[in-house]
Amino acid sequence: MIKMRMTSQRKAILETMSHLRTHPTADELYAILKPKMPKISLATVYRNLEVLASQGFVKKLSLGGSAQKRFDGNPEPHWHVHCVKCGRIGDVEVKKDFNPIQDITMASGFDVQNFQIEFWGICPDCKEESQPEAKTGGRRHVRKKR
Ligand SMILES: [Zn+2]
Ligand SMILES: [Zn+2]
Repeated sequence: MIKMRMTSQRKAILETMSHLRTHPTADELYAILKPKMPKISLATVYRNLEVLASQGFVKKLSLGGSAQKRFDGNPEPHWHVHCVKCGRIGDVEVKKDFNPIQDITMASGFDVQNFQIEFWGICPDCKEESQPEAKTGGRRHVRKKR
């Protein structure tokens, strides 16, 4: 068992993180918590996120291209897909039998211990926005047969 002092604020942070799938920065989480917990400070949110991350309760993300650290409350192994338009980060489920570490160890000569895969693309919301005429265009009679 991991011993850690669970203050009520820390509990609330962990609780909120476990339901969020938006990979918030500390600032974003603070903005979410503040209305519910008027006494909480940004410094408290920062500090508790760091503690929770160091104990493995949340993950600190080192994502390419983002200036601010983002945190992830999803404990399942998963990858991330970034929207190149709005910056949103989605979760991608990991296929259980996918493990390239052995192959990469062989190919590189390194003792490979870990890996991280990131994807970039356009999220469903942005896709819809960028194709306003898609529903009324000439292709509307083209439907995929299922
Ligand atoms: Zn988007
Ligand atoms: Zn995630």
